[in-house]
Amino acid sequence: GGIPAQLRRRLESELEDIRGAGTWKSERIISSRQGPHLRLEGGGAGILNFCANNYLGLSSHPEVIRASVEALEKFGAGLSSVRFICGTQSIHKDLEKKIARFHQREDAILYASCFDANAGIFEALLTPEDAVLSDELNHASIIDGIRLCKANKYRYKHMDMQDLEAKLQDAQKHRLRLVATDGAFSMDGDIAPLREICQLAQKYDALVFIDECHATGFLGPNGRGTDELLGVMDKVTIINSTLGKALGGAAGGYTTGPKPLIDLLRQRSRPYLFSNSLPPAVVGCASKALDLLMESNAIAQSMAAKTQRFRSKMTAAGFTISGKDHPICPVMLGDARLAAVMAEDMLNRGIYVIGFSYPVVPKGKARIRVQISAVHSDEDIDRCVDAFTEVGRKHGALP
Ligand code: PLP
Repeated sequence: GGIPAQLRRRLESELEDIRGAGTWKSERIISSRQGPHLRLEGGGAGILNFCANNYLGLSSHPEVIRASVEALEKFGAGLSSVRFICGTQSIHKDLEKKIARFHQREDAILYASCFDANAGIFEALLTPEDAVLSDELNHASIIDGIRLCKANKYRYKHMDMQDLEAKLQDAQKHRLRLVATDGAFSMDGDIAPLREICQLAQKYDALVFIDECHATGFLGPNGRGTDELLGVMDKVTIINSTLGKALGGAAGGYTTGPKPLIDLLRQRSRPYLFSNSLPPAVVGCASKALDLLMESNAIAQSMAAKTQRFRSKMTAAGFTISGKDHPICPVMLGDARLAAVMAEDMLNRGIYVIGFSYPVVPKGKARIRVQISAVHSDEDIDRCVDAFTEVGRKHGALP
């Protein structure tokens, strides 16, 4: 079972290049549940966690866990099947209806992940007669999904409406135009200008697709997402999002939108047709998370208040936080080494944050990305700000 020596050498040299470039990603091992306070293997207990997408703290919510256990016991470990052969249970249909109701759309379709939902949508909907216009900073899964389709491809500058308009004009020659954007961008915590995008879409007869992974459950007055926040719920045609972040954090993704489109995806979308159904325990988590959010928006509001506390205290301390009103709070540092050293020193103080540098973000724009959750206490937030202030002074990021 070995591999040829030549291939082994090539793999080792590639790994060495990654280490040499300083872009090696190592994984810290968590030995507790996901939550605001973690136990890390070798790092002791009581670590304050500021780098999960657990925006609403539902990943270890007792009711979410109970619903998952109940679904596991009643519906089994899994389906051993894709949906259209013998993999559709009542809970899958119920969850799809619930997702559509949550987003006020006609129907929804479940996938194993949002990565899969993004891989399936463009190829199923668009042909060489059509065009797709994509923000240059869209998530990797949108980029890959677009690569798989045969439509004419336009890439517009990040959130640049002049550039989008010019590309829409150019794309008038095609049958259908689809503008694709992240609702909220995960590296900068910035929010797509959906009002302007929808106006341009109307003017140039285009459809709008948004990826709401970093918005579903908490942006907008009722947590419906970026479209609710910006008052364009009736203008965005297609939403893809994840069950693996704010909505319980287990796994899974979906598309929600017009019924004929969802029907077509069930017939044509390859990651749906050729991959196993979501396990019942996972369906149970997401379904309960949506119930909790539809009962009350108190959790989402609590997260917004915590975000506000962190952003204003950090700004007062002298840091630059990118984005606006989003729980993704990138602490902008510029220098890659500074970001890495400060993140390491934060962990020495029991605070788990991650530094990002090139090629994940542009050169010279290194940062530490802090993510706020509804389950952080005010004391947790203040401890994080105090640690940043100390570490920032020590390493010269603050005067
Ligand atoms: N889209 C965006 C914007 C994301 O941030 C992610 C997750 O990192 C995905 C899609 C993929 O979601 P999933 O984890 O459900 O595959």
